[in-house]
Amino acid sequence: HFNFCAGPAALPTAVLERARDEMLDYRGHGLSVMEMSHRSAEYVAIAEKAEADLRELLAIPANYRVLFTQGGATQQFAAVPFNLLGSGGTANFVDTGIWSRKAIAESRHLFGDARVAASSEASGNTRVPQQGEIELSHDASYLHVTANETIGGLAFDYTPRGVRPDGVEVPLVCDMSSSILSGPLDVSRYGVIYAGAQKNIGPAGLVVVIVRDDLLERARPDMPTLFGYKTLAEGGSMVNTPATYSWYLAGLVFEWLRHDIGGLPAMEAINARKAAKLYAAIDGSELYSNPIAPANRSRMNVPFVLADERLDKPFLAEAEQAGLLNLKGHRSVGGMRASLYNAVPEAAVDALIDFMADFENRKG
Ligand code: PLP
Repeated sequence: HFNFCAGPAALPTAVLERARDEMLDYRGHGLSVMEMSHRSAEYVAIAEKAEADLRELLAIPANYRVLFTQGGATQQFAAVPFNLLGSGGTANFVDTGIWSRKAIAESRHLFGDARVAASSEASGNTRVPQQGEIELSHDASYLHVTANETIGGLAFDYTPRGVRPDGVEVPLVCDMSSSILSGPLDVSRYGVIYAGAQKNIGPAGLVVVIVRDDLLERARPDMPTLFGYKTLAEGGSMVNTPATYSWYLAGLVFEWLRHDIGGLPAMEAINARKAAKLYAAIDGSELYSNPIAPANRSRMNVPFVLADERLDKPFLAEAEQAGLLNLKGHRSVGGMRASLYNAVPEAAVDALIDFMADFENRKG
């Protein structure tokens, strides 16, 4: 079976096997990682190794802190403004679809004003706004973008800059939930990067935040303690009990990326090939289509529709029969979506393409 789920997503088989082998007795310690105190030497070593491997993979500069915090990216929609609006100003956003809008809505819910500095809405969310279209407010304190819209299948093909009308550049905050670790990244371009774990990092319940250390001083005093990046950084992400098992599994995924895949440039090459094949199959068919501007097509989430909606149900039923799971599009948009995260092997994409061609021949 191949799992094309958008999240929680497939984990690499090699990682699941390793976790299975050491689940009951972690490397001779006589207990499961799930049962360890997060303050024990064994667990602290697991946690530190995970951070070190992530730093190595993304070449995270020394002036950035890496936080392993609980919950989902949704909590970060609130945590970001709490952490960054302490000295006033307005949160600015690029709106590229459903996830950006949820971040905007939460910021407005908490602190009133939030500026949409650019939007993809006029294009029907088929292209990402260009740098020249992003107009920050005079009092912008940061610019928030969503690197990859998981539902729309729309991705930035460049790293935007947030420049106020007075020429001052503000920190870039990026929701990378569905694209982090899909390829190399220049972390130094960002103020804050955050990502829910359950796509390319590991199981749900964990969020990775990468924050430049000068931004730890900008928090609002009324912030919930556990949201505080400074508090988490000072406490080694162990202010309270962290999501210990998810953190451990994330560490296994980082090891897999480093040693089995050979690092993020190699991962990116695989991802580029997987996505290119599938988009070529969609574009070359009469039955399937995807409306996104080629430069902004997501490599991680490939939504597509069938020319005749009545074929949706048989398509999904037959795909499942063929072992191709979770191809149904998000409930808000319908159609199909194939998520091609790191753990989805190229053979899965080949099987999907063969199935799609066969289905079209028979029903199209
Ligand atoms: N941001 C993006 C881009 C997402 O894809 C998701 C979930 O799919 C979220 C935020 C919300 O994440 P969570 O469910 O971890 O709160």
